[in-house]
Amino acid sequence: MGQTKSGVIRSGRYFKKLRRGAVIASEQQDVASTTFYWYFFMHLLFLFLDGVGLGANNPDTNPLARAKMPTLHILLGKQTMTASTAPYHGKKATLLALDTTLGVDGMPQSATGQATLLTGINIPAEIGYHYGPKPNADVREFLLNTNNDSVIASEATQSPSEKANKGETIFFWLRANKKTAALLSAYPDGYFKGINSGKRLYSAIPLAVTQAGFPLFTAEDIYAERALAADFTNEGWRKMLKDETAPLFTPEEAGAKMTKLAMQYDFSFFEYWASDYAGHKQDMDWAINQLESFDGVIKGLLDTMPDNLLVLVTSDHGNMEDLGTRRHTDVDVPCLLLGTEEARKKFVGENLENLADITPAIKRFYN
Ligand SMILES: [Zn+2]
Repeated sequence: MGQTKSGVIRSGRYFKKLRRGAVIASEQQDVASTTFYWYFFMHLLFLFLDGVGLGANNPDTNPLARAKMPTLHILLGKQTMTASTAPYHGKKATLLALDTTLGVDGMPQSATGQATLLTGINIPAEIGYHYGPKPNADVREFLLNTNNDSVIASEATQSPSEKANKGETIFFWLRANKKTAALLSAYPDGYFKGINSGKRLYSAIPLAVTQAGFPLFTAEDIYAERALAADFTNEGWRKMLKDETAPLFTPEEAGAKMTKLAMQYDFSFFEYWASDYAGHKQDMDWAINQLESFDGVIKGLLDTMPDNLLVLVTSDHGNMEDLGTRRHTDVDVPCLLLGTEEARKKFVGENLENLADITPAIKRFYN
């Protein structure tokens, strides 16, 4: 654990002490300390899986119905992460289904789906269509830092139409509210070369992160174990980049590592994109491999996460759950929450129905 002031204050052990103290205090003080606790001690890890929907429980087409995922299976009351399981409320996990069509014709796409997740604005409805994979000019307007002052002044008081101001991503909101945040998945040198030369465009997530002034993690951060590669274990990083110096983790170790990293920030985000690729390639073996690795990551997280960490797993559109097509699908995506009942309740509020409900839920979670 870091020896920084915040690292010590935010440890679960400290909270347990605080709660023991609160037992002998008056009820009023207990409520106050709970509020105090929520505001200062809660951590949220947003695990984003690209292109994973809630499909049919059919092992012929859906790798989620076929992969061995013992941890998730137990979490979901011995069910698979498929359409018929949601909604589910268990002891440690909640699974809800989020609509990705957002009332707009056409197949859901990554740029509009991710931008909606990141802003709480129904962007397909605003611009009239789904678009992806990378943001075009219409989508970029919602993610860019064009009007920073209005972002900081914008909380809660504005009408929905005024709220559709440019640049109001969750990352702007976190910065304006003095929350620490990080994108935990790192990028290789070649990625930055591509961005700097103009040959590569940011996808919605790194665009939102950088526009709000948060850095992207690099190879250096992988070596220093401040970040993980987008495949969780660094195995893909080592293979693809022929970089044997990157530390190699088992999926469970990667999950434990992720807990450790997530506890260093109020909000952390992890972007996993290979799931969408496996869907487009209709590659069942690759998809199963990814999911079984993901299950190990979940186990590592569960075994190490303290009560003041909530984990959110969600996606932008369906794809991998139906390998009968190489295209995206318009099914609902999972909103999987791992954490204490209290934390999950706070995040869900009345209910979560579509991609635009996620950013409001994140804000509610901290307040
Ligand atoms: Zn795709």
